[in-house]
Amino acid sequence: MNKYIEIKKALDQKYFIINKNKIKNITDKCDYDSLFQRKREKMIIIHQALKQCHKCDLYKSRTQPVTGAGNVDANALFIGEAPGANEDIKGLPFVGRAGELLTKYLNEIDLSRKDIFITNIIKCRPPGNRDPNDEEIESCFPYLKEQIKIIDPKVIVTLGRHSLATLLNRNVKITKERGIFIDYNERLLLPMLHPAAVLRNNGLDKYMREDFITLREALKNEH
Ligand code: SF4
Repeated sequence: MNKYIEIKKALDQKYFIINKNKIKNITDKCDYDSLFQRKREKMIIIHQALKQCHKCDLYKSRTQPVTGAGNVDANALFIGEAPGANEDIKGLPFVGRAGELLTKYLNEIDLSRKDIFITNIIKCRPPGNRDPNDEEIESCFPYLKEQIKIIDPKVIVTLGRHSLATLLNRNVKITKERGIFIDYNERLLLPMLHPAAVLRNNGLDKYMREDFITLREALKNEH
């Protein structure tokens, strides 16, 4: 299959969505369109690389890698840990109950999934949803670094302990660090709990709401 057909196929699968509202606010639409197109093509190249990736053993048990979904020019990039069973089957991140809860929190601050980009540290599902090991994280992390470069978000939101620990390369205490901005390579990083933790313990819901309001204020200040 030639490169054009591959790209067209990925576009048709709606992995990467144009944010039409954002385009309306850009005076030079042509420049914006070409920037957007370049970002989208780079993301599709990552998607193609992931499909062929054998850098760690997780390729053996995956149905497909999960590249990410949403707006490749988003102001907010959400990063979870790894795909689960539903994500592995559908090839999309956060499609189960935790994903529905995440969508609800976004809607509460007048954002939708099309306004953000969402991905994971690890692109292939670890068997039985076990935690990814250090070797797997080290193998897969370069893809995420490249995605951060492409999207160039104003705010990175980590969901849960593992994604925060990987980005900061240190042990973290998520219940203490959540909701407080950290400098990450001259970008704002906002640690949040993982929505799956809220599903297990509804008492954490109030912290998620607080942190989404913090995110909303940060995004407002960036305009
Ligand atoms: S988890 Fe990442 S590094 Fe490992 S096979 Fe999948 S894409 Fe490659």
